[in-house]
Amino acid sequence: MSGAVLLRGGTLLQPAEDRSFRGDVLIADGAVAAIHTGEAGALDARAKDAGAEVIDCTGLAVAPGFIDVHVHLREPGQTHKETIATGTRAAAAGGFTTVVAMPNTSPVTDSVEWLEFVMSPKRQAAVRVLAMPAVTVGSMGERLTDMAALHAAGAVGFTDDGKPVLQDEVMREALRTAGRLGVPVSQHAEDTRMTVGASMNAGPVSFRLGLRGMPVEAESSIVERDIRLLEEIERADKVRPHLHVQHVSTAKALEAIRQAKRRGLHVTCEVAPHHIALTDEAIAGDAAQRSVRYDTRFKMNPPLRSAEDRDACIAAVLDGTVDVLATDHAPHAAWEKGVEFERAPNGIVGLETALGVALRVLHREHGMAQGKVLALMTSAPAKVLGRDDLGALGVGLSADVVVFDAGASYAYDVTATASRSRNTPFDGAAMVGRVRYTVSQGRVVFRAS
Ligand SMILES: [Zn+2]
Repeated sequence: MSGAVLLRGGTLLQPAEDRSFRGDVLIADGAVAAIHTGEAGALDARAKDAGAEVIDCTGLAVAPGFIDVHVHLREPGQTHKETIATGTRAAAAGGFTTVVAMPNTSPVTDSVEWLEFVMSPKRQAAVRVLAMPAVTVGSMGERLTDMAALHAAGAVGFTDDGKPVLQDEVMREALRTAGRLGVPVSQHAEDTRMTVGASMNAGPVSFRLGLRGMPVEAESSIVERDIRLLEEIERADKVRPHLHVQHVSTAKALEAIRQAKRRGLHVTCEVAPHHIALTDEAIAGDAAQRSVRYDTRFKMNPPLRSAEDRDACIAAVLDGTVDVLATDHAPHAAWEKGVEFERAPNGIVGLETALGVALRVLHREHGMAQGKVLALMTSAPAKVLGRDDLGALGVGLSADVVVFDAGASYAYDVTATASRSRNTPFDGAAMVGRVRYTVSQGRVVFRAS
């Protein structure tokens, strides 16, 4: 393959701005070499000299590649669910050019050795893989990892995702240390003392189905506690720690975050596409989603919540309380999910449906400007990670670009997935926006068939 690509005649979308303009993008040596706005063709001669592949983008949107701050790539240790190679191919198919790997692998990514394993070129990732290693050894919540060494080796933050950091003293020290290193502590906000034996949201639906439910307070109480810690640390020490709250799913936690932001604390948060699209009713059965009762494809943690909480998630995206969309892509094999609801593992895949769900719910159904929806998946996650070299389309920056058909409406078909797993609640669901090409660091890593 030639190193150069010309994306010709597309509509360039600038995230966060509700404007777009016609333009050509020339890519060479892994970077954006030139952008011309206006009539197509101005870069044709340069493209020819560079031996570029010309991709006709007429009628298509051209935007910075998406960034997902929360994915489970399952390697090392659980490669029957996913590998870094397959997970990043799914990312590419979804328009993502950067993903942040979570550390709940086997073994837990809590050492420089395993962090380097995850980020090694030997894993044959299709897109850029960044990683947040564990904040505590073995994600046991007790002893901090060697955060300075992990940061020096490339950690973009720390998390025990899948588990919370429960002890006040441990979380305080983690926030302080990460704050000094200039990276976030990402918290899986769940007071697991309140969710023992629970497999869905607590409410009328769990009551009807006879399943033990997780109360919303299990999420909000940890968020409120973490915000108190942030305030204490800012007051007592001369550091300004950054708390990132993962997959927020409740009105109560979102309100705590909204207030903390107003007080000027450095809190960011993410919401997952499924939490703005679905409610716990789907577990009981929803003909439109092809689901049956106790459908484990609708089981994840945090769980699908009530309609009120879903609406609060959407409202918080619209009012800017939510910084980013993150998929929490969590593959599981069919045999693992094909068991009784209470015994099934938590998690769904999400990389290939994120754009389609986001544009349908936020843009089409709630009128959010397309550029603002894209910002939640590009410039905003880059900011959470402190990486201003990512999430934008600019000359000299890494050529991480997605080309998509913004108006395409279709039903998602999971049989075409690039992931090793198919545990999605969105098979057959309505999508808006279809990825046509993904370019990662100058290489075309996905082409729609
Ligand atoms: Zn989590």
